[in-house]
Formats: sequence, C-alpha cells, structure tokens
Amino acid sequence: MNRLFSAEIIRNESVDDRHFILELSPGAAVADTLVGQFFMLKPGESIDPLLLRPFSLMGFTVPGATHPNGTLSFLIRAAGKGTNILKRLPVGTCLTVLGPLGQGFPPIEEGERLIVVAGGIGIASVLGLVKVYQDVPLFYGVRTKGHLLLSPGMLNAISAEIHIASDDGSIGTKGNILELLEAYVFQLRKSFGGNIKIYACGPHAMLRAMAEMSLDAETYISLETPMACGLGTCLGCAVKTAGGIQMVCKDGPVFNIKDITWDEA
Ligand SMILES: Cc1cc2nc3c(=O)[nH]c(=O)nc-3n(C[C@H](O)[C@H](O)[C@H](O)COP(=O)(O)OP(=O)(O)OC[C@H]3O[C@@H](n4cnc5c(N)ncnc54)[C@H](O)[C@@H]3O)c2cc1C
Repeated sequence: MNRLFSAEIIRNESVDDRHFILELSPGAAVADTLVGQFFMLKPGESIDPLLLRPFSLMGFTVPGATHPNGTLSFLIRAAGKGTNILKRLPVGTCLTVLGPLGQGFPPIEEGERLIVVAGGIGIASVLGLVKVYQDVPLFYGVRTKGHLLLSPGMLNAISAEIHIASDDGSIGTKGNILELLEAYVFQLRKSFGGNIKIYACGPHAMLRAMAEMSLDAETYISLETPMACGLGTCLGCAVKTAGGIQMVCKDGPVFNIKDITWDEA
C-alpha cells in the first residue's frame, strides 16, 4: 500500500485562536493505523515551506459511502509557518500526506490496566487510546480552563473517568496533573496486582518529570521531536536511548520512558 497519497480537506474548524481540527478524506486506502503513529502533511501546494509536517492521528472514521477511504482527523496547534498555512486552507483543498509512520503504543493485553496521560496539545496523540480501550482513566493537564482543547462534555462522552488539573485551578484540580496521577497509581496498586501501563504525551518538561517519578507502572511516552523527513533518513530527530541513538520518526515516536536518556532528549 502506497503511504504517499492525496487527501481533501473536508473540515477545518477553529477550536480557539491557536488550535484547529483538520479532517481529511484520503484519495486512496490508508493502512491500518495504531494509536501513536503519525502522518506527515504538506502545508499547501507551494514549495515554501518545502517540508511536510508531522501530526498524530487524533481520530478516524471507517470507509463509507461518502468517504470511500474513511476520514482522518488531526488536532493542530498553529506554531509557525506550516501550521499557520494549514489553519487557513479552505475545505476542498487537496493536501499531500505521508503515513502512517512510526511505532504506535503497544497493545494492552488482557488483565493489564491502562492509564492515559495528556498535557496540552499532547491530547491529540493519546485520545485514540481512550476511544479504543473505552472507559480508561484519562489524566489531562492544562494551563487554564481556556487551554482545554476538548470540552468537558466531549471528554465525558469518551470516558467516564476524566481527571483534569490546571495550573491556576480554573478547571479541575489546581496544580500539576502528575500529582493526581501519582496518587491514583498509588491507590490502584493497593487493590490491583497486575500490570499497570501508563501511556502519555505532552510537553518535554512533563515527560521528563514523569521519568523522574517512581511510578509503579510500565510507562510509554510519545515524543514530538521536530523532524524533516519522517522516514529515518535525515537523522534530524535523533534521540539518545539506552539502546544507542534512535530516530523518533522510525523507532518512535513511542518509547518506553526508561529507555530515554533525558539529558540528550
Ligand atoms: C510525531 C509527532 C507528532 C506530532 N503531533 C502533533 C499534533 O498532533 N498536533 C500538533 O499541533 N503538533 C504536533 N506535532 C508538532 C508539529 O509537528 C509541529 O508543531 C509543526 O511541525 C510545526 O510546524 P510549523 O511549520 O508550523 O512550525 P515551524 O515554523 O517549523 O516552527 C515554529 C516553532 O515551533 C517549533 N517547533 C517545530 N516543531 C516542533 C515540535 N515538534 N515540537 C515543539 N516545537 C516545535 C520550532 O522550533 C519553532 O520555534 C507533532 C510532532 C511530532 C514529531
């Protein structure tokens, strides 16, 4: 199956002044995608910017009569040139897309318990986990209520167990989401003897802080290191790991948190 295809924008909707949801209808069948894998999108047809930009798949729909190859949706923060171009593209525009790429989150085995953790825009990478595994607890940390990228109503519709923390206390618990997570894992461990897995995506500082905690759980994280090619050839997204230098695009973006050498990551 060709991983380079064209896709038409069928929805380009603002969430707030910086974030938007881009939904695409691919012109060709898309390979099955694991949560945590990503796609490279070309911002428009111009040669500037030349490079495609990586985005995690936030959601999808299966093939149907209206969209014979299903749809792909992305939650995007307008960070710079490429994302600001994507934000302005009208419905009907066709984009060049490459993917799915990289290694997703490992499947959860029977008898294991999953906890999903997101910080800020990291919710885009892990939301699919909450949909696939259903009613897993989601820990979501934001700066303020205004930074919540999905409404409490939408979050409650996908999981009965949503824990939110904000820096200023304007929504959820005031403080750091990792404090809530730590207390939750501690309590869960008292009653559950099996394997607890934590899958997380968020700002570098949050992931690094998680690495320094002694959570009694096997933890996988998705790294969003800037990258140019997405295929492991440009070596732009190298990270130092216990197994030597690895490429976030090809060997990740999902890694066991224990394997990352944080001074270099
Ligand atoms: C595997 C992966 C998945 C991603 N998923 C998402 C997603 O679902 N939603 C989303 O909004 N973003 C996601 N990102 C980040 C996104 O790719 C970048 O924000 C985007 O490429 C910036 O492009 P730009 O042209 O707008 O910015 P540029 O003009 O290239 O850069 C603008 C500013 O953003 C910084 N920047 C660029 N890339 C990154 C990055 N990866 N992380 C932090 N800062 C960066 C630059 O250093 C610069 O300061 C993901 C990144 C990776 C590697």
